[in-house]
Amino acid sequence: MDTQCGDLSAQSISNNYSTTAPPEPVHSTGAHRTEGDENAGGFGELTELPIEINERRPTCLCCGRPQKVCLCPFMPVRPLEVSTCLYIVQHPAEESRVLRTVPLLAACLPPEKCKVFVGRRFNEERNPELAAVCRDPKTLVLYPGSDAENLEDMKVDFSASVHNVLIIDGTWSQAKDMFHRNALFRLPKQVQLNSSISSQYVIRTQPTNTCLSTLECAAITLSIMEKNKAIEELLLRPLRALCSFQLQHGAQVHHSKEHLLRNGIYDKPMPTNKRKIKRMEQLVSNSTL
Ligand SMILES: [Zn+2]
Repeated sequence: MDTQCGDLSAQSISNNYSTTAPPEPVHSTGAHRTEGDENAGGFGELTELPIEINERRPTCLCCGRPQKVCLCPFMPVRPLEVSTCLYIVQHPAEESRVLRTVPLLAACLPPEKCKVFVGRRFNEERNPELAAVCRDPKTLVLYPGSDAENLEDMKVDFSASVHNVLIIDGTWSQAKDMFHRNALFRLPKQVQLNSSISSQYVIRTQPTNTCLSTLECAAITLSIMEKNKAIEELLLRPLRALCSFQLQHGAQVHHSKEHLLRNGIYDKPMPTNKRKIKRMEQLVSNSTL
C-alpha cells in the first residue's frame, strides 16, 4: 500500500489459526472468521514485535485490552452515531496481534456500523454479505493508488444516503495482497485520504510518516463522510491513551523508517537485498516532508 491504510508490523507468537472455526462472530468486535483460512504462518516480522507478548491475561470484553490497561475510560460514553457503515476486512495475523487498533474502533461504534471479517480470501459463496456490500454502488474501498480519488475532494453528499466503506486491516504487504487477490474488493469505487498528518500511532514502526493505522484511517474517513471533525477526535482518544500508556511503560517511540533513514539513525542492519535498499532510498527521496 502506498500511504494510508493498514497497521504495520508483527504478529504474536502464540497464534492459533483454526482451519475449522465457524464463520460466525468469534470475539467482541463481531469479527467473522472465514472458513478455509490456513495458517498464515511466517515469523518474518517478529523483529517488530511490540513490547507485550500475547499473554493470557483477563481481557476487557469492551475494548479488547487487558483489564489492567482497559481503555474504556477514553472511549465515547455511548457508541458514536454515524450513518456510514464500516466493513473491515482483517488479515488473520492482525486478529491476534497485541497492539491492534480495530477492537478500539469497534468499541467506539454501534456494532452494525463496524463489521469485521477475518480472512485473506473472500468470495461470493463464502461471504455473501460482504459480496453484496462490494456490489453496492454506495460502497467505497479505502485503498491508495493512482486509481483512487481523494475522499476529501469528492463531490458527493454522503449524508443523503447510507454509504459503506471497506477498509483492509493488515500490514502493508498483507493489505496489498488482499486488495489485488480479491476481485470483490476492486468492485467498489477506490478512494484514498489526502491527509498529510503524521500517524499518532507511534509505538509501531510505520513505513512513512503519513502511514496511518486502521483506526486513524477510519477516524478520518468517518469525519469527512459525516462532516463532523469531532468524530475523528473521539475515535483517536483511545489510541492516544494506548500510545501514552505504552510509552510510560517502556515502549520506544517508533519513528517511521523514513524518519530514521533521513536522520541517519536507522539502527537496523542495512538489507543486503538490492530491491529493499532501493525501496528504502525511495522512501527518503520521495519524501515531501
Ligand atoms: Zn475496556
